[in-house]
Amino acid sequence: MTKYIFVTGGVTSSLGKGIIAASLAKLLQARGYKVTIQKFDPYINIDPGTLNPYEHGECYVTEDGAETDLDLGHYERFLNVPTSQANNVTTGRIYQHVIQQEREGAYLGKTVQVIPHITDEIKRRMQLLGQSGEYDIIITELGGTVGDIESLPFVEAVRQLRWELGANNSLVIHLTLVPYLAAAGELKTKPTQHSVKTLLEYGVQPDILVCRTEHKLSQEIRKKLAQFCNVNINAVVESIDASTIYDVPLLMLKENLDKTALTKLKLSNKNEPDLENWKNFLGKLKNPTNEVCIALVGKYIELPDAYKSITEGFIHAGATNECKVKVSYIAAESVTKENVAEKLKGMDGVLVAPGFGERGLDGKLNAIKYVRENNIPFFGICLGMQCSVIEFGRNVLGLKDANSFEMDANTSNPVINLMEEQKNITNMGGTMRLGAYDCEIKKGTKAFAIYGKTKISERHRHRYEFNNDYLKQYEAAGMIASGFNPETGLVEIVELKNHPFFVAGQFHPELKSTVANPHPLFVSFVAAALANKKSK
Ligand code: GLN
Repeated sequence: MTKYIFVTGGVTSSLGKGIIAASLAKLLQARGYKVTIQKFDPYINIDPGTLNPYEHGECYVTEDGAETDLDLGHYERFLNVPTSQANNVTTGRIYQHVIQQEREGAYLGKTVQVIPHITDEIKRRMQLLGQSGEYDIIITELGGTVGDIESLPFVEAVRQLRWELGANNSLVIHLTLVPYLAAAGELKTKPTQHSVKTLLEYGVQPDILVCRTEHKLSQEIRKKLAQFCNVNINAVVESIDASTIYDVPLLMLKENLDKTALTKLKLSNKNEPDLENWKNFLGKLKNPTNEVCIALVGKYIELPDAYKSITEGFIHAGATNECKVKVSYIAAESVTKENVAEKLKGMDGVLVAPGFGERGLDGKLNAIKYVRENNIPFFGICLGMQCSVIEFGRNVLGLKDANSFEMDANTSNPVINLMEEQKNITNMGGTMRLGAYDCEIKKGTKAFAIYGKTKISERHRHRYEFNNDYLKQYEAAGMIASGFNPETGLVEIVELKNHPFFVAGQFHPELKSTVANPHPLFVSFVAAALANKKSK
């Protein structure tokens, strides 16, 4: 029978529930259990696809094309197992389903209410992955903070489900903050006590407390937390600030979080966790022999979470190259023809980020022209790839108004065009070209040297594409298409022939980079940046 672990958060947001969930899952997986993690978000959007990155950071896309919360990225990076649409559910999706059922008459004249109809639908979705028979343990992370009005139905669903699942089949981990008051020189337990009290009001007794803290928890503090929150003292787990999120599984191992959880679920903890590869990765990450500086040119740079997976992709690739990657976030809008050399000074490589809309376009084009002409390694992702095509069109092919249809629908040279299947779409949510598509790589290209094979699959999130009417012209001038969708001919990768490293993809390689499988494009780009640095 599948066991269920619920992770709730208290006191404040941003305590790192996703990292705790992913770390626990990693430990359980390392002990041989089949685990997946799902996230239930209390907001009303059907999915985060329509959200500005400034709201909740990057939108993570799964293999099956779901636009999801960025925590799913952590789950995949830690576990190296793909997630899917079922792994991320919002209030909006729950209500949408219930309201649709109501319109179909499925409730047979009953009044449709939060309890039982909404909570039933939440419970059904919480158990969907569990019923697939694929997993021993399902970890469900509840978004938001306990006490929020909008998360109430989710907490109530957890209460009901625990009762239905019966003893020893589920447990609740509550993540809280134990703040340090510098003036008093003390760690404070009261916010945690109040947060647990709120959970108790809803009928949910947490089994394990994970306490975010800047200082070590003394035995005395642990005892106080245990006593006032009705948990065993060994179920008070310290989660001290770490220098990298990839340390957290080992910190949780030291605190016996996995053992405590397994004991409560009456599951064996005999197999010691096999974390050898993880430790190897950490060893390389923490002992770099080199350093490179990479510029990330984008328009959401005030919030690094907007580029979460890219940042993590560099961490994985850095470790592989035993090289620290220092990423400088550069506001695309600030890059002009006049200051581009100054802005990119000291950069060993430049990445132009994905994005939407016109803001910052000129700055991205200025950066690309500069790296193209100065042989600085360049890596373009999605909009970054489209920008490299526009730049080449304008400055090499002489198509002065070359542009993307997204930026200028009246251009006489739409080198990036709206995809055919997008032309009649009016709904914005979930309608882009999303998820995994095959790509065929041409032999003899840089892309082939990087991937070492001709058949790959990558994830997508876009409406526009390279306009194949211009392909001959581009290839004749040295920008070649080295990857194609085998069914539609859509250009997936472009690269420059006469450049040390100028590679750009219409897809999002950052979404597939994990600790166990750093993405080859990131790895090669970092290696190229390192070679560039050494040649200087
Ligand atoms: N805005 C571009 C498109 O829709 C690129 C999207 C992206 O970078 N994810 O095609």
